[in-house]
Amino acid sequence: MSDTLFAKIIRRDIPADIVYEDDEVLAFRDINPQAPVHVLFVPKRPIATLNDVGEADAALLGKLVLAAARWAKQQGFAERGYRCVLNCNRDGGQTVFHLHLHLLAGRAMQWPPG
Ligand code: AMP
Repeated sequence: MSDTLFAKIIRRDIPADIVYEDDEVLAFRDINPQAPVHVLFVPKRPIATLNDVGEADAALLGKLVLAAARWAKQQGFAERGYRCVLNCNRDGGQTVFHLHLHLLAGRAMQWPPG
């Protein structure tokens, strides 16, 4: 996998507004927020897309989702609600090829998405 923007953020080569970190997951605010709260949860291990996730990554994916859900509770908007999105490849709207979960909150979301 090529050296992505998010790998550089994980290494602290470029700055980001980091809101959460543990051994395997880093979360930082999206630079172009689509909601009042827009945070990206990324695994520190580089995985390009959801298509590249294997059985060995199952626990890591679980930790990624759990980290987002716990952070939402800590921030106090979990009961009101939020949206988690994983974009995959061109039709999914993926632009950074290091797997990431978008956590969006702070406004009512529309469905279906555009
Ligand atoms: P995606 O389109 O699903 O690949 O999402 C990539 C996201 O990364 C977009 O929402 C961008 O706004 C966001 N992004 C790009 N560069 C940065 C950066 N330097 N710091 C934080 N978020 C970024």
